[in-house]
Amino acid sequence: MPNRTKLIAGNWKMNNDVAAAAKLADELAEALPEVPEGVEVLVCPPTIDITTVHARMQAAPIALGAQNVYWEAKGAYTGESSCDMLKSAGCTYCIIGHSERRGYFHETDEDMNKKAKALVAAGIVPVFCCGEPEEVREAGTYVDFVCNQVKAGLEGLEIKCPKQLVVAYEPIWAIGTGKTATAEDAQEVCGAIRETLKEMFGEELADGIRVLYGGSAKPGNIAELVAKPDVDGALVGGASLKAADFASMVVKAGE
Ligand code: PEP
Repeated sequence: MPNRTKLIAGNWKMNNDVAAAAKLADELAEALPEVPEGVEVLVCPPTIDITTVHARMQAAPIALGAQNVYWEAKGAYTGESSCDMLKSAGCTYCIIGHSERRGYFHETDEDMNKKAKALVAAGIVPVFCCGEPEEVREAGTYVDFVCNQVKAGLEGLEIKCPKQLVVAYEPIWAIGTGKTATAEDAQEVCGAIRETLKEMFGEELADGIRVLYGGSAKPGNIAELVAKPDVDGALVGGASLKAADFASMVVKAGE
């Protein structure tokens, strides 16, 4: 099995004003003065908090990411941030395609595709999210549904090295609900995603691309999730807002 560095990524969503973000960043820097070998840590604060978190965590072994980006370079796009702006604020990763953006903000596969291409061109790693709603899971067509999201969102993306892309499988029915997919459920879909990535990018690249699981991941279930061969870490919402829980997940992912 290829030796992929595990990634534990925190998605703070729309939580923490600047003062609260500074406090959490300080707590994380203190809780994680170093990370276990073979594990990488990422936090994705709200855009308004990014520069503060960057300043607070400069000495910590924690990468910084954004939760959204716009694909144009600059201009009259009120409320948006470009790839270069994120880069100048210290981001090396950016979440795209989260089900909350697809659902509440009507973002489409075409939008994801433009964002993914702009990020890769700018040298920022997209954390491309995909995942099925409950009714698709119940209908039994979830593997095709998710693999089609991957094909549409990443079609034509040019990457030369596996570290240029991360995919996060986040079944919508498990996000913020406390209903975690079993490690077997996560492996089934993460494995199918890797097969799709092989078709798209070739076996060598796909073998090195990190595929994460997200959806009520927490200290109590992270070890069994990352023990699965195609689950290379987690995208963590709720549990990333408590430094002790998040740090414990990082440690457990390395054991
Ligand atoms: C998320 O929304 O990316 C997520 C995984 O949330 P939670 O961990 O709270 O389910």
